[in-house]
Amino acid sequence: MPEIRQNPATKEWVIIATERAKRPEDFVAEEEEYTIPDYLEDCPFCPGNEDKTPPEIMSYGDGNGNWTLRVVPNKFPALVPHVLGEREEDFDFFRRMDGLGQHEVIIETPKHNESFGTIDDAKALEIVTAYRERYLALSEDKRFKLVKIFRNQGKAAGTSLEHPHSQIVATPVVPLHIRHRLEEATRYYDNHGKCVFCRMIEMERKEGERIVMEEDGFVVIQPFAARVPFETWILPLDHHATFGEIPEQELKGFARALNRILGRLMSILHQPAYNLVVRTAPSGEEGEEYYHWHVQIIPRLTTPAGFELGTGVYINTALPEITAAFTRES
Ligand SMILES: [Zn+2]
Ligand SMILES: [Zn+2]
Repeated sequence: MPEIRQNPATKEWVIIATERAKRPEDFVAEEEEYTIPDYLEDCPFCPGNEDKTPPEIMSYGDGNGNWTLRVVPNKFPALVPHVLGEREEDFDFFRRMDGLGQHEVIIETPKHNESFGTIDDAKALEIVTAYRERYLALSEDKRFKLVKIFRNQGKAAGTSLEHPHSQIVATPVVPLHIRHRLEEATRYYDNHGKCVFCRMIEMERKEGERIVMEEDGFVVIQPFAARVPFETWILPLDHHATFGEIPEQELKGFARALNRILGRLMSILHQPAYNLVVRTAPSGEEGEEYYHWHVQIIPRLTTPAGFELGTGVYINTALPEITAAFTRES
């Protein structure tokens, strides 16, 4: 019998298609022959092509004049910082504003072919340190309400450039989808006097079945109501509403957890395309009890279709308990 499960934090329903359920092995891709080179002459993010990106916002270096990580404005930004962003209403009905915001690219490494999962923990730490530094800088700008860090890996995840990079977007509005999540978390807090994510960590640890790994202060789970096969969350044990509040000394554990779980998924599923998003409360909500920042990794192993589009309900053809065990024990 299929089962409908609800995510306790988002109240989202998911259909777990137990009858059509596949074995974890069925999601493993064929090993690809293609090996990615460590340098590509015409890649705008490879060293030597620095003039092909807009002027750098910041960079880290190795002390010998070579950069190890660069942050640049997106050449084709979704939103731009130099506009007013005032709301207008045409015919007292159609609301619009100029596309205010900031859209940056974090070029994670000079090497064209190294990425989370194949890099060492020190390199992973450098990348998440940049995440934090840019998050804090952008959240200082009072025009921006939400600072969103994400990463697309592979064509099926929508990436157009192969060179390892993350993106960070600051928006002047809190999008509806996010507002909805914040409202549900607030409702849980109002009803139970406790953060729903802290509670989720407690319950998942008690149950144990969906825990994939634990690394210095972070727990990695495949959630009860996973929307897609191998959906994975990284939750900090320490409660902080916004990503910017992660203490510097906890970045190391975060980098390790991220690097380990992505390495694991890369090796067991053979380089799957995935999207990674850092879920955080909006800027200005620092110190709040109701929300708990975390990371979601969505492997692109299946394609949402009409059912998902029409209903907003995902059909997951894998049981998270089984994929979690497979990920944990592989
Ligand atoms: Zn490159
Ligand atoms: Zn919490």
